[in-house]
Amino acid sequence: MINKNKRIAIIGAGPGGLTLARILQQAGFNPVVFEGETSATQREQGGTLDLTEDMGQKALRAAGLFDQFKAICRYEGEALKVMNKSADVLYEDCSNENAEQTTSRPEIDRKVLRQMLLDSVNQEAIKWGHKLLYATPLENGQHKLHFENGATETVDLVVGADGAFSKLRPLVSKETAEYSGVSMVEINILDAKNQFPDIVEMNGLGSVFALDDYKGMLAQMNGDGKIRVYLSFKAPKEWLHNNGINYENLKEAKQELLKLFEDWSPELKKYIHYANGAIFPRRIYMLPVGHKWTHKKGVTLLGDAAHLMSPFAGAGANLAMLDASELALSITTHDNIDEAVYNYELKMFEYAAEIASETKRNMDLFFEINAAEKLTELMKTHYVE
Ligand SMILES: Cc1cc2nc3c(=O)[nH]c(=O)nc-3n(C[C@H](O)[C@H](O)[C@H](O)COP(=O)(O)OP(=O)(O)OC[C@H]3O[C@@H](n4cnc5c(N)ncnc54)[C@H](O)[C@@H]3O)c2cc1C
Repeated sequence: MINKNKRIAIIGAGPGGLTLARILQQAGFNPVVFEGETSATQREQGGTLDLTEDMGQKALRAAGLFDQFKAICRYEGEALKVMNKSADVLYEDCSNENAEQTTSRPEIDRKVLRQMLLDSVNQEAIKWGHKLLYATPLENGQHKLHFENGATETVDLVVGADGAFSKLRPLVSKETAEYSGVSMVEINILDAKNQFPDIVEMNGLGSVFALDDYKGMLAQMNGDGKIRVYLSFKAPKEWLHNNGINYENLKEAKQELLKLFEDWSPELKKYIHYANGAIFPRRIYMLPVGHKWTHKKGVTLLGDAAHLMSPFAGAGANLAMLDASELALSITTHDNIDEAVYNYELKMFEYAAEIASETKRNMDLFFEINAAEKLTELMKTHYVE
């Protein structure tokens, strides 16, 4: 069995990095998580995630956190409606609106998931305010880590769980995250549950995908009663910042956004009219489908760092956590840490390529002509048995 005193550094305290830290700690290892943010509350953590049985939930079982997750996840959040721009509902699955615990993809807010994972790890093992600048490979297979705050560390294994723009990826791969061709403007309707019952009735307790004209309104009810909407566009990279929308002024931005959806149903436009919270422009980036690298001693990647993909299959967080559990399982069952990492990579490359390809297919479909009809067909044939 691998010497448990091996120095393992995990860069990034996202769902992937924290799941890895938790499972390794449970097995008696002492990994250290280096996180660039200064605290758990420095940044807004984003929307709701559905965790699948074969990925996110599997990882939580391995981490001994499944019962805790079950107690706080939202089964009713899996409800889904697919609409066109006239607000015709072409596909609806609200079978879990009564919160029966039968669904395979219950929802959890990203912030709640991160807090659950953070609470589950030994707090001394998390080094906040440690933003990795770069890592240097040493001749003996170790790596020297250089942080923005001036600190350095030398470790036996460094795991890049540092997301889309990983600082460790260049050590193993020449690929970089490229713009996917899709841009989003995220708007938020705070306290929708109490203040805007009409839109809650239309939206339901889960998600709405309203698609037409090569754009979309992707809305999701969050656990705190907020509806988060990603207004999504197939657009050139520069569009997000040369489209005349002033993101600093919500009122003005809403007027511009309404123009972009001028001939959409008044019911759907309420998502924009009612927006009363933060507004974020977002470009969606991705790595090439099937991204992989030749194994290098002492360094590996997981999650978005390894296989960044668009959110159109809801797989990113799920995969990050699955990777973490696969890597941890491999480390805890091999005698040689290098072999453990190599075996994890082989397995991960295979399943990640499959999901990245499904995600890419979904993304293309969301922005095709008659996208709502096509997605409905896909839901009926592919996702419903
Ligand atoms: C709009 C949108 C919607 C999404 N919806 C879903 C969904 O429904 N379901 C789903 O499964 N996924 C979804 N995703 C994807 C999901 O959020 C990511 O795939 C997931 O968070 C990846 O986890 P991770 O741990 O690999 O990286 P991250 O969550 O990105 O975490 C990386 C961590 O590393 C830290 N970090 C970064 N650089 C450094 C550095 N240099 N030094 C130290 N620390 C660093 C960051 O601060 C962060 O804490 C969505 C993504 C987007 C953009």
